[in-house]
Amino acid sequence: MGHVFRTQEQEMAVDGLRRFLAAEIDPVFSREYRDRFVPRERMGAIMRQLSEYGLVSGVVSEAHGGMGLDWLTSLMLYEEVATTSCDLSVPVLINSFGAVLLEKAAPAHLRERYLPGLLRGESFVSVGISEPDVGSNVLEIKTRARRDGDHYVINGEKTWISNGEYSDFLICTCRTSDDPRRGLTHFLLDRKEHPYEVRGIHKIGLNSQSTSQIFLSDVRVPASNMIGDEGDGLKNTLSLFERSRVFVAAMGLGIARRALEEAVRYAKERRQHGKVIAGHQLIAAMLAEMATNVDAARLLTYRAAEMIEAGVPAEMEAAMAKYFACEAAVTIARQAVQIHGGNGVTTEFLVEKLAREAIVAPIPEGTTQMQQLIIGRALTGVGAF
Ligand SMILES: Cc1cc2nc3c(=O)[nH]c(=O)nc-3n(C[C@H](O)[C@H](O)[C@H](O)COP(=O)(O)OP(=O)(O)OC[C@H]3O[C@@H](n4cnc5c(N)ncnc54)[C@H](O)[C@@H]3O)c2cc1C
Repeated sequence: MGHVFRTQEQEMAVDGLRRFLAAEIDPVFSREYRDRFVPRERMGAIMRQLSEYGLVSGVVSEAHGGMGLDWLTSLMLYEEVATTSCDLSVPVLINSFGAVLLEKAAPAHLRERYLPGLLRGESFVSVGISEPDVGSNVLEIKTRARRDGDHYVINGEKTWISNGEYSDFLICTCRTSDDPRRGLTHFLLDRKEHPYEVRGIHKIGLNSQSTSQIFLSDVRVPASNMIGDEGDGLKNTLSLFERSRVFVAAMGLGIARRALEEAVRYAKERRQHGKVIAGHQLIAAMLAEMATNVDAARLLTYRAAEMIEAGVPAEMEAAMAKYFACEAAVTIARQAVQIHGGNGVTTEFLVEKLAREAIVAPIPEGTTQMQQLIIGRALTGVGAF
């Protein structure tokens, strides 16, 4: 699947990673820690191994200590991780985009101190945008950073924050003024030096990794911990979204691909009415539809990644990829459950877990509805928000 698009180098990188994931990582997330929280030590050990294959390290240039892979290669590697475990794909995604933000916007002293640990898989970052009253509209962020001499004092609450329990530091989007477009600023909070309180959130799926509430109560941070200039928070967040959405599209693609693989395997083994169910035309039709949608999701996702690599604006194409791939994941995972019959709703089979994970995918990094509004605005020039 998709081989026609890969160079020989990409083929080797993907194959090596796939073999490692199948042998070492799949059993951890599909059996040992299925739906159980993976402790930080264990998750850290896995992240260290993945960094050697170019995960997280690939998205940062060699000049700043990364492997400097192109976006499409990084995305292909990420698709393999997401196909193996959606849980694991979350810390990989968040550490990758924390690293990109540090590389692109952080002052040298923060970049030099915090980037190497992320690239080696030794530390975890959280990126805190969402709040209890702030989801789809980031302009409404309430968490305040008030200047106090050469420090800022931060008060507020973040929610749905990935990596929260693992995090060594938090890149926090704060309000520094009431200016609608220039009122947001990023700060780096070191968990030991500028302590913030973290509480885990239990969800329908993806409970092997951390999603958290973060409470900030009079947290004093030096002004030098600002990332980018004051008022750059919205601009930097939006420029990150274009890239991170393509990765969340690959997360949806990974769930969908795994669901298809599981369904194909089962359809070839399960016998009813005197033959394997793959031989029943309605099952074949369902598999055909699933496979076509997996490939369509991949084509949209790869196209957006190639445009980003080429430096071409890809806001609409990234939105199309995220929208289509994550909605396709929901449908394909449900079809995979259907093909498994009663077995599909038991914890003995992976498709039950995939169906719960798929439901989550259309929400983060801009919901399906927000992607539709972005596409609509690009088509007509008329914005809905
Ligand atoms: C597993 C997970 C991990 C996450 N990780 C992070 C993280 O690391 N950092 C972080 O900052 N956030 C994170 N988030 C938060 C995520 O970005 C938000 O949940 C998402 O942006 C939606 O916001 P909300 O949940 O407040 O929904 P709301 O914005 O309240 O939306 C509720 C519903 O209304 C719809 N809606 C909203 N506005 C409009 C409109 N104008 N027109 C039409 N429909 C509309 C939405 O599409 C949705 O269906 C994560 C979320 C999840 C589930």
